[in-house]
Amino acid sequence: MKKQDITVSSPLLPDLKDFVPYLEDIWKSKWLTNNGEYHERLEKALCEYLGVEHLNLFSNGTLALIVALQALKISGEVITTPYSFVATTHSLWWNNIKPVFVDIEPETFNIDPDRIEAAITPATTAIMPVHVYGNPCRVDKIQTIADTYGLRVIYDAAHAFGVCRDGVSVLNYGDLSILSFHATKVYSTIEGGAIICHDRKMKHRIDFLKNFGFAGETTVVAPGINAKLNEVQAAFGLLSLKVVDEAIARRKEMAAAYREGLENVHGIHFLPEVEGLQQNYGYFPILVDDAKYGMRRDELYELMKSHQIMGRRYFYPLISDFPTYRGLPSATRENLPVATRVASQVICLPMHHNLTEEDVKEIVQIIKNKS
Ligand SMILES: *Cc1c(COP(=O)(O)O)cnc(C)c1O
Repeated sequence: MKKQDITVSSPLLPDLKDFVPYLEDIWKSKWLTNNGEYHERLEKALCEYLGVEHLNLFSNGTLALIVALQALKISGEVITTPYSFVATTHSLWWNNIKPVFVDIEPETFNIDPDRIEAAITPATTAIMPVHVYGNPCRVDKIQTIADTYGLRVIYDAAHAFGVCRDGVSVLNYGDLSILSFHATKVYSTIEGGAIICHDRKMKHRIDFLKNFGFAGETTVVAPGINAKLNEVQAAFGLLSLKVVDEAIARRKEMAAAYREGLENVHGIHFLPEVEGLQQNYGYFPILVDDAKYGMRRDELYELMKSHQIMGRRYFYPLISDFPTYRGLPSATRENLPVATRVASQVICLPMHHNLTEEDVKEIVQIIKNKS
């Protein structure tokens, strides 16, 4: 029998038996989208699960980012990180905002707050950091800078589903946070996303913005967009919520197995476990220091592929290296030395709830043996 690929991620699927009655219910009600019952139930359930006050569901995380910027009327320049998925910066581009890239910290791969002030100009209106791999940014330092300079903070928290520090969700920081519920994420609604905000008025404003700006049958209060989540996906999301804890527990075991297996491999580095942090184990990134390891990152990546192990070079290339952005003054490698190095060394190893101990052992052996 042909060996199956070991994929980098695997979608979390609710029990199909549980899904059928939900579908029958939706069919009976004939209410398929526009703030249906399942949509309302999922918003409530997610607020409770995540420990946040207000949450707006979206059809995907990218539209959540774009609308978050609209909701706060952000313009001019926004300080952000080049070390993320392209959607972070694309959301600025779609709002006609100029991205200003700031380098990342070597310890967390998140935007380095100590470099933010130097990037502020009279045109700066906001900071858009990313909690990369679900590791929280230095939120207090970022907020202090924002308060001092009168800036908004919008977190791309696409990786930070369920992440808590000392029992408090990281989604409670900043003016707004966005989540992605894409099928490759820890928790999914197939496609989907959310904006987390801190007051009811903002929640209502976002409700309008994601539905063409409609505030009533004949009242359009803003040039909104269509970014609604439908009932079938909301029902899928409600059921996925029942199995997500189990999936995260499984991921945690696999992360521990990787740590143990790779601990003493010369030239292979990974992020340390952080005290008091409740993680979701969405990713398992390693850095390949080729001088010490004796093999280049891309060689290891290809070697794994030849064994049908599908790692991913998240995040390579940097967003600042794509044609749309590489001409920006802040996009130079000299401005982004840490991000440039990390992007050249990183591989995200397969990490999901369907991974087995044997899979991890095999991957560790390949990395150890370099063959
Ligand atoms: C997945 C992701 C997004 C985009 O979310 P979609 O739901 O796929 O639109 C944005 N930012 C980051 C960091 C992501 O990983």
